[in-house]
Amino acid sequence: MAGREPYNNFRPEGRRFSRFQEERGSESETEDSDEASGSLEDEEEASWISWFCSLKGNEFFCEVDEDYVQDEFNLSGLSAQVLYYDYALDLILDSESPNSEVFTDEQHELIESAAELLYGLIHARYILTARGLGLMLEKFKTCDFGRCPRVHCNGQSCLPVGTSDIPRQSTVKVFCPKCEDIHVPRSKYHNHVDGAYFGTTFPHLLLMAYPSWRPAKPTSVYVPRVFGFKLHPTAFESAGQSGGVSSRAGSSQAVQRAQRSGRMANSAPANDVGASPARKARAGGRGGNAAAK
Ligand SMILES: [Zn+2]
Repeated sequence: MAGREPYNNFRPEGRRFSRFQEERGSESETEDSDEASGSLEDEEEASWISWFCSLKGNEFFCEVDEDYVQDEFNLSGLSAQVLYYDYALDLILDSESPNSEVFTDEQHELIESAAELLYGLIHARYILTARGLGLMLEKFKTCDFGRCPRVHCNGQSCLPVGTSDIPRQSTVKVFCPKCEDIHVPRSKYHNHVDGAYFGTTFPHLLLMAYPSWRPAKPTSVYVPRVFGFKLHPTAFESAGQSGGVSSRAGSSQAVQRAQRSGRMANSAPANDVGASPARKARAGGRGGNAAAK
């Protein structure tokens, strides 16, 4: 057991992930809980699933219904992917494992890692069900998955997505339904969550299930400009042919070409802020009426 690789390679250092450790201190106080079944509900702490979803970095997860986890049909095939599957499942469902008392700390840790992997894989399936899609839609509405960093997407709410359905291939990304591109999540904690826990299908299925939440395509696109003029497609070619940026002749040719083509494509410069010497010289050459517009 000692030499085994951890289940989740993306776990950040310092992220507290052991509830066993947290509970160990208060274990002796709950010894006589057998008789107090009446008040058990009041004292009962959050389920493992609620606890897991409340951990820093796990904000993208929704809480999977225990009924879903208990249905063996939903978990078919997962026992082959997760070591200590039975113990991990018991942990997720807060059931007492028969041998849990004799586990070493290291074994507890391995089982908790297995539980994280198992929960992630169950989660990836659950969020494709009607109930799961509904829960994730609520999180989407409240921008729990963050907003698109692209300026022309105007803060569009994003959805989590994996670039692979196989665990340990890549971390979770966020998909912007407006520009239809994927981004690295902003929080460093999310950069350690496995993308397979969300899968490659989820955001697209959600937007198919709730088409009214599919945003319109962006109406504006960013246009690169030099001195206010659009760049001609050949602007970079000529610079490259004559030796790249280091060649003064090449780059000035490219700039002139850009300016010429810019004048043809768009005679109105975006603004006059920061007019360069080149621009002023050109303005002089044209009789000083370049700023007429
Ligand atoms: Zn976007």
